[in-house]
This record gives sequence, structure tokens and C-alpha cells, in this order.
Amino acid sequence: MKLLSIFSVLLFFITTISAQEYPKGVQKLINAYPNFDITYDGTYIILKDGLKFIYDDRIKKFGELLLNKPSISDMFQSEYPKNVNNYIPPRNSDPGRIRNEDLMKAIYGSNSLEVQKNLVTITWCPKLVGSKIKITKINNVHLQLQKISEELDKHPELQKYLQGATSFNWRIIKGTNRLSTHSFGTSIDLNVKFSNYWQWDCKCTNEDVDLKYKNQLPKLIVKIFEKHGFIWGGKWYHYDTMHFEYRPELLI
Ligand SMILES: [Zn+2]
Repeated sequence: MKLLSIFSVLLFFITTISAQEYPKGVQKLINAYPNFDITYDGTYIILKDGLKFIYDDRIKKFGELLLNKPSISDMFQSEYPKNVNNYIPPRNSDPGRIRNEDLMKAIYGSNSLEVQKNLVTITWCPKLVGSKIKITKINNVHLQLQKISEELDKHPELQKYLQGATSFNWRIIKGTNRLSTHSFGTSIDLNVKFSNYWQWDCKCTNEDVDLKYKNQLPKLIVKIFEKHGFIWGGKWYHYDTMHFEYRPELLI
């Protein structure tokens, strides 16, 4: 009995030490997605159902390659500037725009039908808007969006930005072969009338382009979304100021 307890104390220390040595990104994923019981064996991220993904493929990537074939570690390449006001993203800094699609599919569903099984409908800002939007219940994203909606609903001055919000849509991003995160039911776009999108301005889909940052969205909206695990596309060099997506791993 005594030997057994010494052994369990030892085991506890061994696992604690190795957890501390995990790359920061691995630790962030473990903390951000507790329902998936993520583990790491030094090479692979392993989800509770046994699906494995290489964490770091050690290939240096830029531009299109980084967007199209990122390993999971690449998702943490640029730090997301949380709670930073009047932020102008440096050239080609798109924190959160880099996503490993295989991991997203494993978490939220690998096709439209699988994703739709997990969607729930919420009433978006009942007092100010009152429209119905669909959002995934995986990782309790719907509960987070519900909190955001309740908080925004207390600000009538924000009404015009909140109208016309859209969410789930299984689709490819224009000019690419990549799925939009709207495909996974984790993202919401606010009113396009008060939004800026880099492709509208350059009238191109070429990533390597000179852009002049634009935004019309009030800081308070961004602050409320970030508080509940959503990042904002207005913090990307390739700005998309209507866009918010659930990416808690970038906010912890
Ligand atoms: Zn969007």
C-alpha cells in the first residue's frame, strides 16, 4: 500500500514536470478545449477519440503555404493582441487567420452535415436585433455567444453594427481552397454595411499586397467578444472587420 502511494506521488511529479515542458501552444490547446482531453506525446496532439495530429512539422512557411498547410504550431506564430486598442496590424501579421483545418474538422465536424448536427439557434441581441442565428454547441460556443449577445444588447448605441449578423455557412473562402470558419459554426459576421474587408479594397485575392488598414467597428464590441473567447478579424493585416470567431487558445 505504502509502496503504491510512493509510486503514485512519483508518477504525479513525472507527469507534472513533462506537462510543464510542453510547447506553449500545446498547453494553450489543452486549457482552451478541456472537453477534448487533449494529450501530447512529444510529436502528436491526441484527442480523446484517439485522433492524432503532428504538432510541429518543422517546415518554415510564409504567405499562401502558411495559410494552406499550417501545422498546429503555426497557429501560434503571431501573438493575438488582446485588449489592445487602436491596434494597426503589422504587415502580414494575421493572428488567428492561420488554422489547421484537420484539427478544426476533428473538433467541429468534417462536413456540413456533421457540423449541422451540433448547431443550435440563438436569438441574437433580443432587444436591439432579435434575429435567429445558428452556432455550434461544441465547446459551449453557443453559451459564449449568448453571453456576448446579452452584453451587447445593453448598448443601443451599437445597434446598427449588430444588425444583419450571419453565422453558419459551409463554404470555401473566395480565391482559395480553404474552408471559412463559418463552415464550423464557430464564427459570426456583423453588419457588412459598417465593415471593411481587405479584398474589397485591393479588389484582389493576392496575399502579397500593400494594404491601408481600415475599420469602423467600435472598440467596445471587440472587447466584449474577446472577453468570451472570440478573436476579431480587425486585428489582421488582411483585415476582415465584420468577422469574429471562437478561438480561446489565442486569448489565454
Ligand atoms: Zn466572417
